[in-house]
Amino acid sequence: TAPRRLRALLLISDTGGGHRASANALRDAIQQLCPNAFDVFIVDMWVEWTLWPFTSLPESYQFLAKNPPLWRAAYCYGELPMTRRLTEEVANALAHERVRAALACVRPDIVVSLHPLTQNLPLRVMRRMGLRGRVPFVTVVTDLGGAHPTWFHPEADRVFVASEAVQQLALKRGVPPACIRQCGLPVRREFWSDASGDAATAAGDGYQPLPDPLLRQRLLESRYAWRLRLGGLDADRKTILVVGGGDGVGGLGRIAEAVVRRLDGVSRERAARGNPVRFQVVVVCGKNERLRRHLEVGMRERNPVAGPTRGAVAASSASLVTRVLVHGFVGNMGEWMAAADAIITKAGPGTIAEALTRGLPIMLSGFLPGQEEGNVPYVVDNGVGEYRRGPEAIAQGIAEWMADEERLLQMAVRARRLGRPHATYEIGREVVDMAREWPGYPDTAEVVDGIEAAHRPAP
Ligand code: UDP
Repeated sequence: TAPRRLRALLLISDTGGGHRASANALRDAIQQLCPNAFDVFIVDMWVEWTLWPFTSLPESYQFLAKNPPLWRAAYCYGELPMTRRLTEEVANALAHERVRAALACVRPDIVVSLHPLTQNLPLRVMRRMGLRGRVPFVTVVTDLGGAHPTWFHPEADRVFVASEAVQQLALKRGVPPACIRQCGLPVRREFWSDASGDAATAAGDGYQPLPDPLLRQRLLESRYAWRLRLGGLDADRKTILVVGGGDGVGGLGRIAEAVVRRLDGVSRERAARGNPVRFQVVVVCGKNERLRRHLEVGMRERNPVAGPTRGAVAASSASLVTRVLVHGFVGNMGEWMAAADAIITKAGPGTIAEALTRGLPIMLSGFLPGQEEGNVPYVVDNGVGEYRRGPEAIAQGIAEWMADEERLLQMAVRARRLGRPHATYEIGREVVDMAREWPGYPDTAEVVDGIEAAHRPAP
């Protein structure tokens, strides 16, 4: 008989877009590694399985993320052992039975948690259902340079982290060294292979890093090729990508305007010195429609199209003006990143991890207190970018980068080396192996016993 399909349960909470994005990436990796062998379920545990107030977690997060002082307070609340314990006990008292019933319906052979708030409760429920030792529990930390303590549970069977700093935090929180794997952040399929052709295959088999001079050449060639291929770009202009996460936040508009003004100045100076350079800025506003409309109106005059109505602009002076492309939410971020020479972004882990796979130097413009704070030293200390505060300082930094081709390329090469396009695949492979090797969810008879056992009072 054909082997039974295995069931992988991926637990998240939709606080921000990153956890679901990582879960989707991991699902794709599992399905690509073992077509038709797995059923993968992605569940927002608190919204889909529990009750108010836990069901309002995504909205509370949105509110807090827009109010940094409140956000910091909530972050610290969860960091203190006493308050964390208290919250865990309340959550357990209110939601334990619902999570148990849901788990008994899904009958997972492996549980993967991709959120800090989906460790403690599911582990407790699994313990009481007698699933520990049968169904592995895996944590995939979706933060990059730092992580909240609630990510780490000493009982997790495997913990995937993306950096040395987070590995140290896991050890400090009592995760046994043998359970920790440092793989990199799960990124979308689009980023599994390298746009410059450096990564041999998505699976990483036979991957041989290119020597530095060749890698530089590849990066430059691939950027040029993507500029030719992507609509609206001028292949000969240096290209700066400005983004602010999925929601287009962090004062994107003012940053873009300051950068454009500054680059106009650089173009004029360089032309006067007989060493011309021209720029284009691509602003990706994400879901921030208001910003997109505002910038589109503000920047319209910058990109005069030659033709009967606008042909009057003298070609030579017009070409010194920095071109600006404004986009809403783009579905091909990997291509825009591959076409750019540098990116300006808040310290979002997803964007940073993706930019690294594209060999893109990163100018950090801000961070969410607590959660994204550790990503700043991760970028700066690894020599793949800088952090500057305020639109003018950022614009100045970008102007300095653009004046120093050598430094820019060195950062690009370091970024490409730090990037982990194969991370999702590596994590997926281990998840698949664990699901296959462990006994898995008990068969029907045992399930009935298991559920009955779960109804008995906890020892
Ligand atoms: N993103 C995208 N299209 C856009 C804007 C953003 O695909 O127009 C993606 C981006 O590539 C990244 C994610 O949204 O994968 C943003 O994640 P990050 O961790 O940087 O920030 P968050 O939005 O979660 O705060």
